[in-house]
Amino acid sequence: MSAMSLTTILAGLSLLWALVSWLVGAFFTAYVAQQKSYSFLWWLILGFLFPFISLLTVIGLPDRALNRHVPNAVTHAPCSNCAEFVRKEAKQCPFCQHNLAVS
Ligand SMILES: [Zn+2]
Repeated sequence: MSAMSLTTILAGLSLLWALVSWLVGAFFTAYVAQQKSYSFLWWLILGFLFPFISLLTVIGLPDRALNRHVPNAVTHAPCSNCAEFVRKEAKQCPFCQHNLAVS
């Protein structure tokens, strides 16, 4: 085996390693996203396009499933009858059964 072919093999191996870590990174990004209730496919694409950046972004993102149940000004409004925070789309208050569609 000549030195030339050894270099070629090493170059090939490092290229293969880069490719594998790129693929694993993209799938790991998608996996983390899925654990946080985000789209697996969408984050897989982002993971392929922007390795590292998308992974860091998805790690920094809040858990959407948890966030959904935390009342905030964007998703919730106080009930006009009992003042409990209710989802804005709600037609009936889950706390006092007040009809919110009318008010
Ligand atoms: Zn109410």
